[in-house]
Amino acid sequence: MVQKDFITFNWPYMTGKELYYIAEAHFNGRLAGDGPFTQRCQKWFEETTGALKTLLTHSCTAALELSALLLDLKPGDEIIMPSFTFVSSANAFALRRAVPVFVDIREDTLNIDEDLIEAAISPRTRAIVPVHYAGVACEMDRIMQIAGRHRLKVIEDAAHGVMATYKERPLGTIGHLGAFSFHETKNIISGEGGALLVNSPEFIEMAEIFREKGTDRSRFYRGEVDKYTWQSIGSSFLPGELIAAFLWAQLEEAGRITDTRLETWSRYHELLEPLESAGYLRRPIVPAGCRHNAHMYYILLSPEIDRDGLLSEMNKRGVNSVFHYVPLHSSPAGMRYGRASGALPVTDSTSARLVRLPLWFGLTYEQQLRVVEVLEDLIKEDLDLKVHRTQGALLKR
Ligand SMILES: *Cc1c(COP(=O)(O)O)cnc(C)c1O
Repeated sequence: MVQKDFITFNWPYMTGKELYYIAEAHFNGRLAGDGPFTQRCQKWFEETTGALKTLLTHSCTAALELSALLLDLKPGDEIIMPSFTFVSSANAFALRRAVPVFVDIREDTLNIDEDLIEAAISPRTRAIVPVHYAGVACEMDRIMQIAGRHRLKVIEDAAHGVMATYKERPLGTIGHLGAFSFHETKNIISGEGGALLVNSPEFIEMAEIFREKGTDRSRFYRGEVDKYTWQSIGSSFLPGELIAAFLWAQLEEAGRITDTRLETWSRYHELLEPLESAGYLRRPIVPAGCRHNAHMYYILLSPEIDRDGLLSEMNKRGVNSVFHYVPLHSSPAGMRYGRASGALPVTDSTSARLVRLPLWFGLTYEQQLRVVEVLEDLIKEDLDLKVHRTQGALLKR
């Protein structure tokens, strides 16, 4: 039983029109993929982001797997990525027998450290996968330069990055390919869902074929061929129309959802300033030129604070705060299928100190005040306890 006034970490926001559009899809009698709602959503992304081609998928994981197929990887080809990311960034490539090569992250944005990428490049390297953590852009100009110099492809894992930009350019449209997520925990949702943004014309035709079970069904639907056949290996990566109908209701409100989240994010940022000044934690850093989308509000606790103890106590006091990625380079599958490029001290330290605070559309100011109050109390209790313990130890000596 969830206690009264428990502040959950996430609460999916629905605009109210999802069921209306689902009813419309029902009434249309078109429920398979690539129907009118799918077309409408794809067109919306192409118009708002400028992506050459957008293909809805059933998840961001699927969009990343499509990207891996598009690279035509040979076993042992290498893909450079951060270790501080979700499993799918690496798994999509490992599934094609490629080797994820893990690079450390920057202290400020927690994104892949572009200065460490070249040292990780080998003759087998084929691509770089920057992950825009919390919707704050990676240093894409540098990453694209490095990729150009070494003839590598860039696949943006923009799962967090819908509606965020880097130097005015929407995330997901800067690399050769980009992947979005509409999972329930992201900003714009359809339960499960995703999209592949194709920014490089060479990939469009094969992306359509891989997504449609290896057939040229997309060409057939457009009337370009009179029957469709098996053209290549592939799989089924497309969502049904009910999902696309749900997503359409979200896209109509994407601007308002983002603005509201940004207000909530900024309130945390103000409320937590004193704790940062006092040296207990550091708040997120958003570099100039990056417009983020308030996907997440995280804090990095100062190393002497017991993060796991603090999280469990916060949850007991009704504030559902959570940690984030367990680094991939030291995970069982990461060690089996990937390798680390050097030591990853920032990744390890970040993973041990990071706390994500509740952030969702509709979270009230009063609830945010409570989150910060509980956090502050616990940090101070934790440190007091340690001071006492140290004093005790000193007395005994
Ligand atoms: C959520 C997430 C994914 C996977 O998205 P799904 O739509 O659930 O497949 C991939 N990468 C990152 C960084 C994510 O946060």
